[in-house]
Amino acid sequence: MRKPLMAGNWKMFKTAGETSAFFQKFLPLVAASSHADIVLAAPFVNLPAAVAATASSRVEVAAQNLFWMKEGAYTGEVSGPMLTAAGVRWVIIGHSERRQFFHESDEMVLKRTEAAIECGLKPIVCVGEKLEERERGETGQVLSAQFAGGLAPLSDAQFAGVVIAYEPVWAIGTGRTATPEIAADAHRTLRGLVRAGFGESAAASCRILYGGSVKPDNVQALMAQPEIDGALVGGASLDAVSFSTIVNF
Ligand code: PEP
Repeated sequence: MRKPLMAGNWKMFKTAGETSAFFQKFLPLVAASSHADIVLAAPFVNLPAAVAATASSRVEVAAQNLFWMKEGAYTGEVSGPMLTAAGVRWVIIGHSERRQFFHESDEMVLKRTEAAIECGLKPIVCVGEKLEERERGETGQVLSAQFAGGLAPLSDAQFAGVVIAYEPVWAIGTGRTATPEIAADAHRTLRGLVRAGFGESAAASCRILYGGSVKPDNVQALMAQPEIDGALVGGASLDAVSFSTIVNF
């Protein structure tokens, strides 16, 4: 039985003050939500505020990226050990906005994932096809290639803690959600790739989240799919009531 994981991704939104104010409102709304693991990914500069605000709660904090070197002359980068020292427990890797705007490759996704695991951060690795790829019937090939480059080279022990987020690019921030059936179909493809690469027990335990315009009014139908183990939520995670409604699907 896989425990649902409901994760929010704030992208480049909110100040430190707004971060604290969000959690003041949000935490009481999810105080009884032990059915799910709850994670929020804040911008780097607001991670200390998020960690402080969630210290006595079950909510854990994620970064939205990390660099694969531990330290060095890499201006502007933040390493895994810096994140864990700040109290961060999770990290999103390979989000489509990183792939699209910052030219992240599957090879970089793999390096970041290995670096995260090495320092004890739990990675949420994002994969997903673009609209034109779906229209050309290439969804399976795209997922296979992203999996092959970004995840398959991990050892069984490294893969054990990885969460995968299926995020069709055409559904992110567009209001256009994949139907539960489309999402479940892609999740089955991904679980098949996990099974082929890491075996039956890894496939049975790996959590695969859906992301792409998840809202309070569509989360129930998505979560009703046995293949969908949780959600990665962008826009709707910025509001405490909206995200708590999603967490409490
Ligand atoms: C995301 O940022 O990962 C995302 C899925 O965004 P949205 O929910 O706004 O589509």
